[in-house]
Amino acid sequence: MCSMSDDLFRPNWDVIGHDWAVQRLTRSLNAGRLRHAYLINGVARIGKTTFARAFAQAVNCLSEVSRPCGACRACRLTARGTYADFSLIEAQGNALRIEQIRELTRTLALRPLEGRYRVLILRRFHEASPQAMDALLKTLEEPPPYVLLLLTADTTESLLPTIQSRCQPLNLRPLPSSVIREALIERYKVEPERAALIAQLSGGRMGWALEVLKDESVLKQRAEWLAILERALGESRAARFEQARQLSEDRAGLPSLLALWQSYWRDALLLAHHAAVAAIINRDRSHALEQIARSVKAEEIYQALLAVRRTLRYLQANVNARLALDALMLELPRVRLAAAP
Ligand SMILES: [Zn+2]
Repeated sequence: MCSMSDDLFRPNWDVIGHDWAVQRLTRSLNAGRLRHAYLINGVARIGKTTFARAFAQAVNCLSEVSRPCGACRACRLTARGTYADFSLIEAQGNALRIEQIRELTRTLALRPLEGRYRVLILRRFHEASPQAMDALLKTLEEPPPYVLLLLTADTTESLLPTIQSRCQPLNLRPLPSSVIREALIERYKVEPERAALIAQLSGGRMGWALEVLKDESVLKQRAEWLAILERALGESRAARFEQARQLSEDRAGLPSLLALWQSYWRDALLLAHHAAVAAIINRDRSHALEQIARSVKAEEIYQALLAVRRTLRYLQANVNARLALDALMLELPRVRLAAAP
């Protein structure tokens, strides 16, 4: 298709971190060995869509020197989401619907209007309904040569195995907090102390860090959710169930809440195994976490961590939120925490 030098594609994507993934795809592009479907998997707010968008720019970039250039028409319009051969589709409400997949299948049958590829990002594919996944499978079996499908998912557990086997997996991992801190300071001009705090709390998720920059209420919400958890540990069953009832009313917020609680129990487990406070994510809660690590058996802390993960899975499987949270409340250890000095 293009007789340019072997390394026309460069690993200079507008992405923070995930260097190994950028380099791997850059090598595939330069070798002309692009797959037609990729499954970009990683925890919420880690930067999957940003990564997918940069990938979309690379494949359709018009530069004859270095791709993606970030400046040509294809790069600019893809960044804005208005490029003719680029679409981003995501779940509406709870699940990606079968009608959405049918519509995109029709789009895919058409040749690209101006790009080399018709690129489709299917966001939050872990929330797609089984029928929608099934409908996509047909496209994955025999994709037209000009199609590039980029699926993003917070977890692969709910995906049909046949979907997974037809996509090249790209598992994005949390970034070192130093990478996030430096990016916040250098690219986003955040003052160093604030950047360090946000980077620490981000759990390696650049998207989360940027969200906090735009909206401080995310930090307030976090503090509130942790306070609820810490209070619940000292409360009666009845009070815990009442708390579960209240939390279940904000179903959309539950995945973030559970991801936070998961990081909290992981921290407690680390401390129970005598890790240094510097190794934990929720360092501002070290006073409470150290009490838990001292007074609760490591095995019980581990069970609490597993219970939170299980609850997250139940919610992804559309189990009744209140029932799932009630069950979780029963599995949390009982410990009365002294207030921080
Ligand atoms: Zn370009």
